[in-house]
Amino acid sequence: MKPQNPQLDEPLIFKKSSKMRNGISILKSDVGDVIPGNTIPKELLREDIKDFPEVSEIDVVRHFTRLSQWNFGVDTGFYPLGSCTMKYNPKINEDIARLAGFSKVHPYQSDELNQGALQLMCELEEFLCEISGMDAATLQPAAGAHGELCGMLMIAKYFKEKDKPRKKVIIPDTAHGTNPASSNLAGFTVVSVKEENVGVITPEAVASVMDEDTAALMLTNPNTIGLFEKHIKEIAEIVHKKGGFIYCDGANLNAIMGIAKLGDMGVDVIQFNLHKTFSTPHGGGGPGSGPVGVKKLLEPYLPKPRIIKKGKRFSLDYNRPKSIGRLKAFYGNFAIMARAYSYIRAMGHDGLKKASEMAVLNANYIREKLKGHYYLPYNQTCMHESVFSDKFQSEKDVHTIDIAKRLMDYGFHPPTIYFPLIVSGAIMIEPTETETKETLDSFINAMISIAQGTKDNPDIVKNAPHTTQIGRLDETRAARNPILRWKG
Ligand SMILES: *Cc1c(COP(=O)(O)O)cnc(C)c1O
Repeated sequence: MKPQNPQLDEPLIFKKSSKMRNGISILKSDVGDVIPGNTIPKELLREDIKDFPEVSEIDVVRHFTRLSQWNFGVDTGFYPLGSCTMKYNPKINEDIARLAGFSKVHPYQSDELNQGALQLMCELEEFLCEISGMDAATLQPAAGAHGELCGMLMIAKYFKEKDKPRKKVIIPDTAHGTNPASSNLAGFTVVSVKEENVGVITPEAVASVMDEDTAALMLTNPNTIGLFEKHIKEIAEIVHKKGGFIYCDGANLNAIMGIAKLGDMGVDVIQFNLHKTFSTPHGGGGPGSGPVGVKKLLEPYLPKPRIIKKGKRFSLDYNRPKSIGRLKAFYGNFAIMARAYSYIRAMGHDGLKKASEMAVLNANYIREKLKGHYYLPYNQTCMHESVFSDKFQSEKDVHTIDIAKRLMDYGFHPPTIYFPLIVSGAIMIEPTETETKETLDSFINAMISIAQGTKDNPDIVKNAPHTTQIGRLDETRAARNPILRWKG
């Protein structure tokens, strides 16, 4: 089928080429002819570049402007990617990050000349501690998973210093996949605990595996099926009694900020994903930031340097003998911190709380409206996201991938699919707080229409997308046998 949008008909730039067409005019040299081979070594010169596109300046501008508009982003449409918190990021935070005083500071400047940046970082640490109920924080890690690694390395070091290294970490199957990966990298063996059909981990399940060789229990809360781990306090007591720590993956903080503090529930270490919860656009592979908050006991192990405040002066403290050391060059991704700082200051306590309340309300609105149309494996009030599956549609041989592809025909970015792994054919929808009811309704209508289409004419869904520039890709072959050069 032809694309409906002529903007998508843009050909390759090679196809726009016309012999001798040019985008630049160079004046004749007035210092004599440049002799090839004199200024540039001969072996680096090419006689001809085969099929080099010859186009005018406006051709180039239009070509790349069009291509740039093929990108789908939060600024162009609804992006309900579960576990990612693809919220709209207010532009004021971008402006703040671009202020010359922030964007042009250099990490080699002396502390004296970096007082403003250090103050921002120090206060951001304080804000994150206040939001999570922790005692101290580091801003160094560059992403959520990097923060997890930081936390697990601190826990490992704590036991090593005590001369009682522990080998195991308990991880429920509702935790994010990065949790076992980070534990493993930090040298631990992962003990997995499963909970059939409950959706949250129970104290009994934890008690049955917790022992004095277990360094920590690592969980994601709210967890990856969008449910709050409601037994967390009791579970923390069980783990603490045997001398272990509770690590909480805080990437899903968008559901509870301003409402509940994980520190009050017995969590000892938590990472924040500033690029999810605190207003940094992500998804394009740009820089992230995964600060880590800890309780007092683990404070000496935080990466160095730490920012310290004496009166009105801020400085960097490298004299930290128990620290796990450095995790990243300099002090972390500063521009992300500037955005988060600006976001938190602009929102205030009430604003952050309202954001979480709206995020949860929006997710439950979608869950309620779609639940007759798509199978809901854990049919209960959810937090900021809810997980459906393709169980009903599978009867017509229509699967999650088909539903996701078909959504593109309706102009929506597909949700997260086939994750979490504990739900077969998962469709994980996270609307975030920044969408209007009209947007949610049109997404819901698209999903219902796809469910209906599956009954009436499953082939249309199975062969989607129909309105995009290219149809269904062979993703396995593309990954196994990538063709990275245009051959004409
Ligand atoms: C996104 C996410 C992570 C990983 O964060 P990155 O910044 O991508 O490394 C970990 N846990 C959960 C629950 C997440 O949603």
